[in-house]
Amino acid sequence: MMEYRILGKTGIRVSRLCFGTLTLGPLQSNLALEDGARLLEIAFEAGVNFLDTADLYGTYPYIRQAIRHRIERPVIASKSYDYTRAGMKESLQRALTEMDVPCVDIFMLHEQESHLTLAGHRAALEYLFEAKEAGLVRAVGFSCHTVAAVRAALSMPEIDVIHPLVNERGVGVQDGTAAEMLTAVKQLHQTGMGIFAMKPLGGGHLIPNSDVAFRYVLEQSCLDAIAVGMVTAEEVTYNCALFAGEAVSHTVAEILRQKKRSLQVQAWCTGCGTCTTYCPQGALHVENGQVVVATDHCILCGYCGAHCPDFCLKIY
Ligand code: SF4
Ligand code: SF4
Repeated sequence: MMEYRILGKTGIRVSRLCFGTLTLGPLQSNLALEDGARLLEIAFEAGVNFLDTADLYGTYPYIRQAIRHRIERPVIASKSYDYTRAGMKESLQRALTEMDVPCVDIFMLHEQESHLTLAGHRAALEYLFEAKEAGLVRAVGFSCHTVAAVRAALSMPEIDVIHPLVNERGVGVQDGTAAEMLTAVKQLHQTGMGIFAMKPLGGGHLIPNSDVAFRYVLEQSCLDAIAVGMVTAEEVTYNCALFAGEAVSHTVAEILRQKKRSLQVQAWCTGCGTCTTYCPQGALHVENGQVVVATDHCILCGYCGAHCPDFCLKIY
């Protein structure tokens, strides 16, 4: 049976497995509308009731398609980079319209770094608090890849939920180790903050040891839920079974392990070159403003991804 938890003090009941929808959309697999929606439906049938999306992801149409005939709507979390009141209002309205829902359960500031960025987004946050009063959202929060932002939330009791990056190797944590992130998250959870983690597989870098990586996050009681990106029916079925504590299919596990993988550079790479100095194989160089991977030299070790400040390097 799928496990459900209450997200901090919000009263919102979510499946421990949250379907991270980034993987479905134009920034990643760009699945056909029906195919992406079908994956969400498979997850619903297995007990998943929690979806994560964002203004940026372009995945509202998949969600709209998947939930249009459902009597019980899943819990939906979305987020926006907007930092102005007007911009955040537009972002929320876009989410409501494009998903055709009366309210978005959780709406967050996207990717906060520290108390400084949180202060810079205050006007947008204030709008979200008003939207909560008006019943357009049920909980307000932010997502982050930094320990500093998690620590900043300790002095923000007005925040309901955070969505931090947590994995057993700290891949993608921009300012600390896996242990430092976990310590901060535990402290925050003790205050009653709802926590749903992202990137348990480090953006794909931990797939070769996914059993260890999943065990790590599932054992952390401070994580009310964990968002996982999925792109095939096999992955959805496998992860649902894993999170439900059921026996997982060894055949499916083998299919997933055998999946042809490669390092992919996301479109938002700025060509800063930081990652190139961390590749032990010399497989990265910057060309025309973006990093380029020499696939014949890349051993998919995953070291580079941990050093990209913008999480642009992912293994699929
Ligand atoms: S992948 Fe990241 S670290 Fe590498 S050049 Fe692009 S932005 Fe910089
Ligand atoms: S995954 Fe490893 S080998 Fe491949 S580019 Fe990154 S650091 Fe280099």
